Amino acid sequence: MPDAILRIALPSPLRRLFDYRAPPGVPHSALQPGARLRVPFGRRELIGILIEVTDHSEVPAGKLKPALQLLDAQSPLPPALFKLCLWTAQYYQHSLGDTLSWALPVLLRQGEPAEVRQERFWHLVDGAQLDDPRLRRAPRQREALQTIAQHPHGVAHQLLSQLQLNKDSLGQLRDKGLVRVEIRRHAASERHLNWLAEPELPLNPEQRAAAEAVRTGFGRFNAYLLAGVTGSGKTEVYLQLIRETLEAGKQALVLIPEINLGPQTLARFERRFNARIALLHSGVNDRERLDAWLAARDGEADIIIGTRSALFTPMQRPGLIIIDEEHDASYKQQEGLRYHARDLAVVRAHQENIPILLGSATPSLESLQNAHSGRYAMLHLHQRAGGAQQPRFLRLDVKSRPLDSGISAPMQQAIAQTLAAGQQVLVFLNRRGFAPTLLCHDCGWLSECPRCDARMTVHQRSGELRCHHCGHLERQPSNCPKCNNVDLRPVGAGTERAEERLGILFPQVPVLRVDRDSTSRKEAMTSLFNTVQRGEPCILVGTQMLAKGHHFPRVTLVAILDADGGLFSADFRASERMAQLIVQVAGRAGRAEEPGKVIIQSHLADHPLLVQLTEQGYFAFAAQALSERRSAGLPPFCHLALLRAEAHKPGQAEGFLDEACSEAELLVNELKLSGIELLGPVPAPMERRAGRYRAQLLVQANARAPLHHLLSTWMLALEQMPSGRAVRWSLDVDPIDLF
Ligand code: ADP
Ligand code: ZN
Ligand code: ZN
Repeated sequence: MPDAILRIALPSPLRRLFDYRAPPGVPHSALQPGARLRVPFGRRELIGILIEVTDHSEVPAGKLKPALQLLDAQSPLPPALFKLCLWTAQYYQHSLGDTLSWALPVLLRQGEPAEVRQERFWHLVDGAQLDDPRLRRAPRQREALQTIAQHPHGVAHQLLSQLQLNKDSLGQLRDKGLVRVEIRRHAASERHLNWLAEPELPLNPEQRAAAEAVRTGFGRFNAYLLAGVTGSGKTEVYLQLIRETLEAGKQALVLIPEINLGPQTLARFERRFNARIALLHSGVNDRERLDAWLAARDGEADIIIGTRSALFTPMQRPGLIIIDEEHDASYKQQEGLRYHARDLAVVRAHQENIPILLGSATPSLESLQNAHSGRYAMLHLHQRAGGAQQPRFLRLDVKSRPLDSGISAPMQQAIAQTLAAGQQVLVFLNRRGFAPTLLCHDCGWLSECPRCDARMTVHQRSGELRCHHCGHLERQPSNCPKCNNVDLRPVGAGTERAEERLGILFPQVPVLRVDRDSTSRKEAMTSLFNTVQRGEPCILVGTQMLAKGHHFPRVTLVAILDADGGLFSADFRASERMAQLIVQVAGRAGRAEEPGKVIIQSHLADHPLLVQLTEQGYFAFAAQALSERRSAGLPPFCHLALLRAEAHKPGQAEGFLDEACSEAELLVNELKLSGIELLGPVPAPMERRAGRYRAQLLVQANARAPLHHLLSTWMLALEQMPSGRAVRWSLDVDPIDLF
């Protein structure tokens, strides 16, 4: 019989499997597809996943190396998840081995056993006599034996001292063959009859209709878009649907954006349910993550809550998937495997034949289009659940008005009035630092980053210039590096500058800044929110960190200092993002008695999209934006893939992309594909970043099938291309930003 050949998926960018011989001494029958193996790879060792066992290989027999070690008796990844990974690898044109590696918890990638931590249990041996004559003169052993006998499921080793059991006595009993040690995991805690730990809120009619619609779709694939204004009670709808899922004996998976990871969100789930909740987010360590993953896989967790990558958590009894804030950009991974967790979640729900609920106050244009075309059922919540009013929007034209640290005079007056009325103000500016750049008033020198085509941001507090693109850091110079003049001026305003200025303008109230620089410590954030909750007049200044997850009922004025970025940008998604941010920030404010007011400063106060948004709301804006996308032939009315390349020498990346483009043109003809356009290559909007020159080639297609046909063939060709070795390149299918 010929040797078994193992075809193994390895965490390598190469889109192929690798052949090995079986590890010495491991029989054919022990090799289960899906099992992990440690293999030699060049000078390194990698851990791969067995895809199949065959009897032939294109590699000459003499060159085949044996795998080093078989790590699993069976696949740690259940078939449903494996299928999802296959789909993912194909759709995103990523190597299967690398995809599987992204999908597995870190410890499994590193070769840790795929088992929940084991515990030693002490058991009575069958047939052991409690009055064994050998124990006549050993009272402590006799006692220990009796204690063990009282525990038919055994005594966990870690409970020995609690039960006043002595290890030495147990050791002696084992030597006499009266007790034995079994190594196993803790028994799963019992399933609950009453899943609720606190009463549910009675749903209002809109919430009830939404919950009812999803409930009728239980047990099979259905996708729902729950469009509900902030505070309309979407979370309450999720909670009640999860309870029904649990009652049906199923598990629920909830994805939340990275930024919503506030303790509030998680606490709400934990307060509501008597259930085993598995958490998979950036705050849990690798071991906890693995345990949560295994508990979900083995049906020992009822609710799984996590960020993006939790999408790849296997479930024994999947019942429902919920994606909160489905429009959030953090669902898209921007490196390595560039997947979109929301899109993959819909695929997963389809594969597992379960319902999926996407919720947002500001749904993405993609999801809205899917609702319009009937792929998703649309559910609306128009009213705030607590009875609070929607805020009023005002546009403030600042075309010919001087800005004082980014704040115009009318805006300052509005802030003063609000504070005088004893209320709170939220000032939103999506730019960290003191000022976006430092300028020499004499020679025009600007604080450019030496490694990027970008300016370094002034951070006055720490006396630094920092590049927000590559992290480069310098001391803030006191003289111009070019002409030695001392007249260096920060230009423009970031949150640090707005905070400083507001502190001077309104010395009588606290000014609290919330951005990544100010809130790296959790306690700082908590104490800040406590101050705000107390309700005294104050000013909150912050970036998009303020836009999510918190509710500030005493805030009645939201001051948006700069909406222009979203209207000027070359990125066709910028206006959508700006609108979502404005609405999300606005949604933080106001309550029943004191409706909020939102003032937006802009140099483009009459821009149709801004007018639409402020006068008719997000859905009118979205309709307008969608019709613009349709006439421009942009997503969701076409499909994009972006080939990015970067290299140390100028021109190198474009050289590779030129060749790649010719190859694609050839393939389009050869495969007779239609409706595909190649745009570029062009330098990336920021050509140099972190010392590398970047360029990109955009592929635009009317339909997915020809696009994917092209991509799969093209990628294999690019892997062979010598000019590709000198550059770093990657493909982004459905890119969400073109930078
Ligand atoms: P969303 O998730 O849409 O932002 P939440 O579910 O957080 O909204 O609800 C906002 C507030 O309204 C919460 O304080 C919540 O307790 C309350 N709420 C939600 N549903 C109801 C209801 N049916 N009756 C009374 N209050 C509700
Ligand atoms: Zn100068
Ligand atoms: Zn830089």
